[in-house]
Amino acid sequence: MRLLYPFAKRYIAGEDLQTALKSIQKLQRAGFLASMDILGENVTQKEQADAAREEYLDLIHSLEKSPSPMDFSIKVTAMGLDIDKGLCRKNLEEVLTATGSNSARLDMEGSPYTQSTIDMCLELHPKFNNLGQAVQAYLFRTQADVDQLIENKISVRLCKGAYKEPASIAYQSMDDIRENFLSLAFKLLKEGHRPAIATHDEYLLEKILAFIAQEKIDPDSFYFEMLYGVGRDLQRTLLARGFQMRVYTPFGSAWLPYTLRRLAERKENVMFVLKSLFRETFGIRKVK
Ligand SMILES: Cc1cc2nc3c(=O)[nH]c(=O)nc-3n(C[C@H](O)[C@H](O)[C@H](O)COP(=O)(O)OP(=O)(O)OC[C@H]3O[C@@H](n4cnc5c(N)ncnc54)[C@H](O)[C@@H]3O)c2cc1C
Repeated sequence: MRLLYPFAKRYIAGEDLQTALKSIQKLQRAGFLASMDILGENVTQKEQADAAREEYLDLIHSLEKSPSPMDFSIKVTAMGLDIDKGLCRKNLEEVLTATGSNSARLDMEGSPYTQSTIDMCLELHPKFNNLGQAVQAYLFRTQADVDQLIENKISVRLCKGAYKEPASIAYQSMDDIRENFLSLAFKLLKEGHRPAIATHDEYLLEKILAFIAQEKIDPDSFYFEMLYGVGRDLQRTLLARGFQMRVYTPFGSAWLPYTLRRLAERKENVMFVLKSLFRETFGIRKVK
């Protein structure tokens, strides 16, 4: 699968901490904020979960002198949820203690983990007020989850959702997902606690920008968030318009599942990768 690394490079800030730190400095110099994610998910052994915790601790300590506030995105399955809930909670507590005045949030993974991720966030938030939660607009349940998170003063990151989910629990059409996204975004912008609106979808962004202007929402009360390597022109435009723009910046050696999710988001990407792999495997090149 190393063959896919050239595609991964667009979406990740490097395979190791030192390379990632250089990418963050570059983003910060340009005025962006960053949410760091160490790639890796679904570990099956305690040693792997402990290693993931140590990697986060190294990252957090390396960024202690960061010139702008940092955010850390964490997956419960990387911290050992599949092995033992107590282990996952203990690892998260250590990481959250280290974050100090920075913020952190739990990514939302596939639907088998939705409830346990939200439970973990609700459980830890009273002790770690800087912990936020990602939610997915494609899930029917998210309206109720957002109400509960707002009630508990938890910062929410709203995204569409990146996993394949069945029609029994999730909207399937883009129109329905967008409609739900907008209704959730409007609620979060009015009633949420430092929410993050995480999309590159210009249809949504136009409607959200109009809502912000109409309702006179304070630009410092929320964040726009986009993925490293995606919609870079949009990121610059929103930053130049005075909004807080946070870039979700993943790095690490376990880049494959994340890259596959990003590639699957665009049909053009999949065709491009398949053609390229085919040409590379069979030596079909125009330039010889
Ligand atoms: C900050 C952030 C955090 C996220 N966290 C989570 C999470 O915790 N859980 C989760 O399930 N999902 C997460 N996601 C992913 C999200 O759910 C979507 O899968 C992803 O953002 C694409 O949706 P979109 O709203 O940008 O709309 P889309 O309709 O998919 O994309 C809109 C436009 O953006 C561009 N674009 C989008 N994706 C790509 C790509 N991969 N390559 C090139 N161009 C692209 C294209 O121009 C496309 O037309 C996160 C996304 C962001 C931005």
